[in-house]
Amino acid sequence: MKKRILVTGGAGFLGSHLCERLLNEGHEVICVDNYFTGNKENIVHLLANPYFELIRHDVTMPLYVEVDEIYHLASPASPTHYQYNPIKTIKTSVIGSMNMLGLAKRVKAKILQASTSEVYGDPQVHPQPELYWGNVNPIGPRACYDEGKRCAETLFMSYHKQNDVHIKIMRIFNTYGPRMHQDDGRVVSNFIVQALKGEDLTIYGDGSQTRSFCYVDDNIEAMIRLMDTDKAFIGPVNIGNDAEFSIVELAEKVLKLTGASTKIVKKRLPQDDPSQRQPVITLAQKALDWTPQVSLEEGLRKTIAYFKKVLNV
Ligand code: NAD
Ligand code: UDP
Repeated sequence: MKKRILVTGGAGFLGSHLCERLLNEGHEVICVDNYFTGNKENIVHLLANPYFELIRHDVTMPLYVEVDEIYHLASPASPTHYQYNPIKTIKTSVIGSMNMLGLAKRVKAKILQASTSEVYGDPQVHPQPELYWGNVNPIGPRACYDEGKRCAETLFMSYHKQNDVHIKIMRIFNTYGPRMHQDDGRVVSNFIVQALKGEDLTIYGDGSQTRSFCYVDDNIEAMIRLMDTDKAFIGPVNIGNDAEFSIVELAEKVLKLTGASTKIVKKRLPQDDPSQRQPVITLAQKALDWTPQVSLEEGLRKTIAYFKKVLNV
């Protein structure tokens, strides 16, 4: 059945892949973005599609559209971007979520929140199941994002319990792939761009900290499956690839796959940088019948091919 679907943050990395996938499935897509970290380049190929509509809009302001579903992705995601204007980051998470939940309530739309593994902070439970409440510093440099997203989850649950809004909460773990911003500061794009430009790879701290990297196509598949679950299933559900790597291991893989002969240099570890992160994904496997398909090596190859084109190397 053809649905009218709103994607907030639709001109960003994940949002643009989602818009493309939903259009390919025959839906009508309204993409809303204020272009803070997103880019028209990401969606320019969709503009000729009569079922794609683009609105320049900031989600901290109310929005009036008639839709069946809302994928709420609007928020900067990289630490460099979300720390650039912390107050705006909190407003985007909190006021933006209230506006989109108000819209969902009014038009009786299903709404999915792109939450994050950052709600677990610097986790003391490893790997992280959904039941873990996390370890977040409420006054640290990451708090504007972590606490903003935690508050957004609270808002989603409150609108669900108090107003019976049909919600889904997805906790996304580090996701990478084509259309990541080349200088958004995240580790995968940083390493690939540095290697392709013949620059040294910058490891923060000793590089023993871990992350679990999910390729974008796996993420989008899970997002759509989650939206399509029964009303009773609301999450939160972890979505990520559970293969865990240290940052040193990631750097070595990027060097090998790009064939770069540059060095690794160590830089200062940012405050509150989580020392380990790996999702427990048994809930996603059971509820969504979903398992990530793309290995880190395969995903890196695709992402390297993309950045070669962007950088013209
Ligand atoms: P991104 O920065 O590429 O995309 C975010 C988009 O939101 C951008 O297009 C940006 O312009 C837009 N935006 C930001 N503030 C806005 C506002 N006030 N009004 C309207 N639009 C606004 O990041 P992404 O990686 O695509 O992340 C998308 C979502 O997924 C975010 O909510 C992020 O928190 C979440 N997430 C992503 C990851 C990841 O690894 N990629 C991990 C966890 C959570
Ligand atoms: N990192 C790094 N070098 C970089 C960028 C990031 O060593 O050039 C590290 C960062 O300190 C963190 C990990 O890589 O430990 C992942 O960082 P990213 O910003 O991608 O995402 P995070 O999971 O911290 O939000």
